[in-house]
Amino acid sequence: MASKLSYVQAVSSVNPSFWNKLTEIKLNVDKLSESPRPVWGYFTLLSKTTVNQPLIELDSTSFNSDFNGQNMYVPFKGKVINKNTVEDFKECNKQDVINTEGKCLCENIVSGEAIKNPVLLNSFLLLTFADLKKYHYYYWFSFPVPSGLVLEKFSAKIISEEFNSDRLKQLYVAFQALDAMNKTYFIIENQNDKLLVHSLSSKLSELTAESTTDIYFAFFNISMDNKSIGSQLRNYAALILHHCPFLKGKTQKFVAVSVTRHGSEVGLDTSVIYNLLLPDVSTDKFDSWVGWEKNERDKMGPRVANMKNTLDPKIIAENSVYLNLKLMKWRIVPDINLEVTENAKCLLIGAGTLGCAVARCLLGWGVRNITFADNGYVSHSNPVRQSLYTYEDALSMKAKSEVAPKNLEKIFPGVNAKGVHICIPMPGHSVGESMLKQTVEAVQVLTDLIKDHDIIFLLTDSRESRWLPTLLGCYHKKIVINSALGFDSYLVMRHGCSSDTSNNPELVQDIEGYKIIDGDNLGCYFCNDVTAPGDSMKNRTLDQQCTVTRPGVAQIAGALAVELAVSILQHEKRIKAPAFYKISSKAEDLDPEIENQCILGLIPHSIRGFLSSFNQMLPATMKYDKCVACSDVILNEYKEKGIDFLLKVFDSSKHLEDVTKLTEMLADFDMDEILEFSDEEIE
Ligand SMILES: [Zn+2]
Repeated sequence: MASKLSYVQAVSSVNPSFWNKLTEIKLNVDKLSESPRPVWGYFTLLSKTTVNQPLIELDSTSFNSDFNGQNMYVPFKGKVINKNTVEDFKECNKQDVINTEGKCLCENIVSGEAIKNPVLLNSFLLLTFADLKKYHYYYWFSFPVPSGLVLEKFSAKIISEEFNSDRLKQLYVAFQALDAMNKTYFIIENQNDKLLVHSLSSKLSELTAESTTDIYFAFFNISMDNKSIGSQLRNYAALILHHCPFLKGKTQKFVAVSVTRHGSEVGLDTSVIYNLLLPDVSTDKFDSWVGWEKNERDKMGPRVANMKNTLDPKIIAENSVYLNLKLMKWRIVPDINLEVTENAKCLLIGAGTLGCAVARCLLGWGVRNITFADNGYVSHSNPVRQSLYTYEDALSMKAKSEVAPKNLEKIFPGVNAKGVHICIPMPGHSVGESMLKQTVEAVQVLTDLIKDHDIIFLLTDSRESRWLPTLLGCYHKKIVINSALGFDSYLVMRHGCSSDTSNNPELVQDIEGYKIIDGDNLGCYFCNDVTAPGDSMKNRTLDQQCTVTRPGVAQIAGALAVELAVSILQHEKRIKAPAFYKISSKAEDLDPEIENQCILGLIPHSIRGFLSSFNQMLPATMKYDKCVACSDVILNEYKEKGIDFLLKVFDSSKHLEDVTKLTEMLADFDMDEILEFSDEEIE
């Protein structure tokens, strides 16, 4: 009794490296060409019990000219047609496409090409559309077989029922001796109790009606069980019928070969011998072909591979950056909190030499949110010292607030960089009627920026431009990192924040040889000054107006500013982290338990460095109760009078001295003494 054969179709499994290679070829070689490109598919030779589908795999080596299956894979030979538009991909007539492919297969059968190269019977077509902006790949596989060719099964039995194990071992050795192409379809001859293996090209043409009784048409069966057969058997039957027409309407023995492992033994014992009835058809009748693959939803339709996370170079860059940081966690500082650094919102006031240095170092820490506030334009002297600008930027005299974020994104596209062009209102820089609206707006913009960020870096090149952000940063309890440069010296410091308790000297603790000041009692940049910041640009020569420094100073200070900020972020008390100051040179090194203030170590209040001696100090100072920027009296005045207070200060910096009663104190001072505190000199 004849019964229907049960077929299985290959299931496509595409490795991301395949799409990567396809993208490369599309961009660099094929461009707009839709010409078919040959590709290899791999089918595992040894049946794996872990896989329950007949997977045909493709990866980047699928594009190689030679099949390299390393004796572990059986080849499929296909072509990929990559459409230029999604419309072409969707709208091309799928029946026409598969018929064209089938016709081509038929020609290979008729011409005998498929006898020389039996892998052509395992043909497939891959239709694709690559959306390279989104890294979405639409694809549809087809494994064409003639729909009009029907095979009937008369009997089936496991091969070991017909041949003993010695002969099966011989058979396996002979099978393994075939090259990968001929392993797909071959002929077994039972000759005087010996099993011979022939390639199609060496045997098929010799066959006669009489000689086929000892012949088994063998094929590598992709089915995972021994009850069904890979659908490509129909192509094999078409080839046999065309070249051995005497078999039309006859039954013939076939061997569905499968390679399995039992313990340490690998063999063909699970292969199945079928007795099949070959139909009376001829190849010129094959005008309709079937074999499109169903998608994951078991529907006839294309699949989509979303490779964004695998292929988008921006995401690759991002992953690499964070991987680099994560390596710190492996051994050196396992408990470091990288998320808090990554998510810290940093405002850089000043996008000059220091601003560029700070931004680059923040990128190194994986900081994502960086905003520049600056009012300058890129000039020709800038690019050599200011690492975010180029000669071209200087030629077009672009605003730094515009160029800096763009160039930062060029370095690391994952950064969320912004720029705000803003003139920061300054004490003693008279506003006047015409500038009033603009100044009030600038104060509002700066206030919003400070409220919206976690860390404020003060990186401008004048003292008075730091006053307003110092006050606002303190008022809004933000981490403020200040950096200032001399010719061969630098100062990097953190500011204290407004405290809920009033300044109390008892909050200074002492342990032997050290002074400890709580974070909210630390002084600011202005705490050491007894004069209010005025217009420092007046009466200055060119060399005094520009920051003339040794070029390395800004890089050092910028890097220290970032490292100080990161240490503060890693401290559980954040801005309130205490600062240690060694007051006696005889003081012993601190107990690491106390000294390890945060996971990265001690957090100083300020760092003063001198390149003339390559020396560095870590002084810590208390908040000064008459400070013109951070004292309670100033903060209260701002709280009560807001913009009116600020406008008075902009008109005359002396107003600050009045509010803090510095004026009275100054009357008692000798002016020579005051000059010592000028910021021109760093101690
Ligand atoms: Zn202060």
